[in-house]
Amino acid sequence: MTEQPLPHGTTSGTPTSSAAGTRLDPWLGAYADRTHGMRSSEIRALFAVASRPEVVSLAGGMPFLDGLPLEVLSDVASRVVAQRGLQALQYGSGQGDETLREQILDVMALEGITAHPDDIVVTTGSQQALDLVTRVFINPGDVVVAEAPSYVGALGVFRAYQADVVHVEIDAHGLVPEALETTLAGLAAAGRRVKFLYTVPNFHNPAGVSLSLERRPRILEIAQRYGVLVLEDNPYGLLGFDREPWPALRSYDEDGVIYLGSFSKTFAPGYRVGWAVAPHAVREKLVLASESAILCPSNASQIAISTYLSTCDWRGQIKAYREMYRERRDAMIAALGEHLPDATWNVPDGGFYTWVRLPDGLDARDMLPRAITARVAYVSGTAFYYDGSGGDHMRLSFCYPTPERIREGVRRLAGVVDGEREL
Ligand code: PMP
Repeated sequence: MTEQPLPHGTTSGTPTSSAAGTRLDPWLGAYADRTHGMRSSEIRALFAVASRPEVVSLAGGMPFLDGLPLEVLSDVASRVVAQRGLQALQYGSGQGDETLREQILDVMALEGITAHPDDIVVTTGSQQALDLVTRVFINPGDVVVAEAPSYVGALGVFRAYQADVVHVEIDAHGLVPEALETTLAGLAAAGRRVKFLYTVPNFHNPAGVSLSLERRPRILEIAQRYGVLVLEDNPYGLLGFDREPWPALRSYDEDGVIYLGSFSKTFAPGYRVGWAVAPHAVREKLVLASESAILCPSNASQIAISTYLSTCDWRGQIKAYREMYRERRDAMIAALGEHLPDATWNVPDGGFYTWVRLPDGLDARDMLPRAITARVAYVSGTAFYYDGSGGDHMRLSFCYPTPERIREGVRRLAGVVDGEREL
């Protein structure tokens, strides 16, 4: 008997797994080359399992929103429609709402940035800004210099545009100027043009460190000398636990820095509003790129954020977040000291993350399935390196679970580490 051809996505009698579905993909030969580098981030892949209630997730970077004044925000949301519905529900400017752009100036003033509303492009989260900047600057094979480790979501964008990422060492004070100099000199000698330097100078994701005040002008001087644009990604800068924000790189240099900001961590990610501040000519290209991608950012979201900023105590909310995250950081650090004395970690003074070096010989990626079985999740260090190295580290987030859950999560993790040694 001859086999009948099967409909896509099935094998005889049994539904196929998605892997088998991929094998049967009739469009396999049709995809653009850039899709070859696209893959699910290690965090996305973990998301479903880490969200199960029995798992303590030290994996995601989700802000803890329970402290938001939801009655007040529901009033804000209903006013958006009742009072400005026809604008909120309509298409808007590709560059973003002008009132919101003016208010963003007040937010950035906290980090010493002076700008004009025209310098700002509102985006769908800073993730879209990362995509726009990369789209505007990167041809396949172009070099992006980035910290080692770097934010996994930025690496995903660079991969999607087929950039070649060259990592530069960071230490407890952020990007190491001497290492940057050596890397840029080496690339120049090899005739390779660096399109930009991607950096998260404050409360780094995943490393938790900040670029010291002393190093900020030095990094900019080196970038300038090699003609390299700086992409400053700063979603966490206002979330310091024990100090006021440090001046942004953009506050030192308006011509050589593109600054990215976001309301995701200082307010909430659900409205998906972020922004880019760029030198004039770059800004025009970013607006064109954004218009071709999304026409315009959501008016409803922008007006909601704008109303929040003008009618609510947003500075007080940031202060509340800082205190809450400090308490969680303290719980995480105390638990690490108690349960994982053979590992090493930094004590972040802001943001969401601790970067943990495992005891020698252990590999965070290999260990992850056993951690999930033990009902604790983290992100393997391999997610944060372009070449998949970094398995000797893991990123632990303290932003979302309560202090009690953090302690329980680290206790479970210690059990997994002990078990690993016995394997
Ligand atoms: N940059 C960094 C360093 C981040 O950690 C994140 C979110 N985790 C983003 C950008 C993207 O944030 P959003 O799109 O929500 O503004």
